[in-house]
Order: sequence, then C-alpha cells, then structure tokens
Amino acid sequence: MPDFALLGLILIAILAGYLFGRAEKKKQLVQVQQNPISKEYFVGLNYLLNEQTDEAIETFIKALDLNSDTVDTYLALGSLFCRRGEVEKSIRVHQDLLARPSLTSEQSVRVQLELAKDYMTAGLLDRAEAMLADLSRQNSPFRTEASEQLLKIYEQEREWQQAVEVTESLFRLKGEYYGPRLAHLYCELAENCLNNNDRAGARRCLRTAFSRDRDCARASLILGRIEYEEGRDREVVRALQKISRQDYRYIPLSLDLLNKASHRSNSKKAYAGYLSRCLSDHPATAVVLALTDILIESRDEDFAQEFLTEQLRGNPSLKGLNALIDLQLHNPAEGSLTSLRLLQEVINKMLEVKDAYKCNGCGFSGRKMHWRCPRCLDWGTITPLQGVEGE
Ligand SMILES: [Zn+2]
Repeated sequence: MPDFALLGLILIAILAGYLFGRAEKKKQLVQVQQNPISKEYFVGLNYLLNEQTDEAIETFIKALDLNSDTVDTYLALGSLFCRRGEVEKSIRVHQDLLARPSLTSEQSVRVQLELAKDYMTAGLLDRAEAMLADLSRQNSPFRTEASEQLLKIYEQEREWQQAVEVTESLFRLKGEYYGPRLAHLYCELAENCLNNNDRAGARRCLRTAFSRDRDCARASLILGRIEYEEGRDREVVRALQKISRQDYRYIPLSLDLLNKASHRSNSKKAYAGYLSRCLSDHPATAVVLALTDILIESRDEDFAQEFLTEQLRGNPSLKGLNALIDLQLHNPAEGSLTSLRLLQEVINKMLEVKDAYKCNGCGFSGRKMHWRCPRCLDWGTITPLQGVEGE
C-alpha cells in the first residue's frame, strides 16, 4: 500500500479511536461540541478530506487525546513518519505521547523504545544510548528488543567491551542463539589486545570466545596467528587444522600460515596429508593450488601439471587455470608462448575485478574479508567465494 493511502488510514483510525473513546465514556453530544479538542479532530478530518495531510497530522497531534485504543494508532503514525524520512515528526509524536500521564507503564516503555529508535535514525546516538541502557535493565516485555537496539549502537561505534556486556546479558536471558555473535565480539577484543601487543590478553579473549561458540573459525585463525608469532608451529597446526571441522569454508584463509609453519618446522609431508584430506572432503581451489605448490617445490613439475589438469576437469576455476598456464610457461610447447602469455593476461585482468568474498545473507560481495557484513550487519555471514571464480 502506498504511504499516502496508509497515512490516510492511520489518521482515520485515530479519529475513529477518538470517537469510539468518547462513546465509551458516554459523554453527551453537547459536551463534545463544547469541548475545544473535539473541534480539532473535525478540523483535522476536514484537512484529510481535502488531502492536506501535513495540516491534518499537525492538527491530530495537537489534539492528542489518549485512550488505550489510540496508543497503537499513534505508534503506527510515528513509524510511518520514520519510514517517510520525517524523523522529527516521529520524535514529536512519541514525545507528546510520553508526556501523557494516562499511559500505562508498559505503554510508556513501548513509546520510549520507539523514541530511542527515532533518536538512532536521527543520529542522536547519545540520547538513544541513555534511554536504551535504562530500558535494557528494566524487567519488561521489551527488554530484549531494547538490548538488541543498544547492541546495534555499540557495534556501530565499535565499543566492543560494552557490546560484550549487553550480549552477555542477552546470552543469559535467551541462551545459545547469541553464542556465535558473542564469540565474534570476543574476537574483536582479542584483535584490540593484539594491536596493543597484549598476546596474553588476546589469548584470554579467545578462550572465552570458544566457550561461547566452540565452532568459531575466526577465533582459531587469530589463535593460529598468535602461535605463529610465538614460534610454536605445532600449536599453529593444531589451531588452524581445527577449522576444517569448525567451518570448512574458511580453510582458504588458514592456508598461508599453515604453509609458513610447515616450512619453518620442516613438516611439509604432514601438511600435504592434511591438504589431501581437505580435498577429498571439500574440494576447493585454494587447497588444489596449495597441493600443486608442494609438488612444484618437490621439483615434480610434470606431476604437478598432471594433478592440476585433473583437478581442473572436476572443478574448473579461473585461479586454477592461471596456475596451470604458469606451469606451462616454464616449459612452453613450440609456438605457444605468445598465446599462453595473452591468455594469462586476460585471466589476470578478470581476476583483478572479481570479488573474492560474499555474504550468504544479503548477497553483498567485495574484495576484502569482513567478519561483520557492511550491508546487512550480520556476523559470520561472509565467506570466501567458491566455484569457477572463487577459491
Ligand atoms: Zn550481508
């Protein structure tokens, strides 16, 4: 329904609610006529009939007269203003509602929540935060929603410690559902610790992250990084290989460090074994390329080429094709050098403009990995792209 028609309906509902309330109170017609507020309603109706909605709205707000039936209608009016981008009007409706002494405490909490959302839309985050912090401590049916909104503010402001505190209370109230999100928030805290060279603090955050979501692949990736920086290669392998059981889609993000650790500790054979297992469970281009590299390093280029060709038949990919051309350029067949170079140039150009990561929730894609989707703001929905153009 277009906004205009909806607005008309809401205003008619306000009028009907008002008249119904009057009838309920069994007031005399004479009294109604003598009451200046009732005149406002008829003036408003007149504006409405003449399609002068702005004037109608102003008049109805002025005549704001509440009974329990009209609160819902005024809330609908507020949210309609907000949707139309007229947040100042929405704020005014909600502030006027709040000033009414006839509101029940539950209605008051509901209106405060809507007002806080208006403040968020208007960018008045301090005001919204103060109201929501208060609402999230009150034992009302809107406590969870108030906490959720407060959490949005802290996440937007990257106030991770405060975000953790709110989510912990949601975790206590609502349980497991908040586990993965909490784990991501502890990962953010761990990253902050690492930026301040506090590895011990980061380890503590990661332990809590695992206790909230044992399948948090991101926590494993950060732990792998810490272990690598501390020279503990066996622990690097333990942390990063866990990802194949937690969420195999993140395996490509772990391979660079696993490769470095296997070189440093001279354990390439074990690394190749792990890659082979990954390949048979969840074929991915990144794994194929890592195995090809190992074959090249062991100076078995012919076998590397054969292996890569075979894999590409089963799972074609641009990156794989590029690697195959690379191999052929080392030892090109007579007359093929120019066309191979041209082909590689084309593929490189294609890869340059391709996105590497995609959100499974909203479809957002980009060339940079985000743990929280910049579009739908969900945690852990973005993964490396798979298939012909991906990993
Ligand atoms: Zn998204």
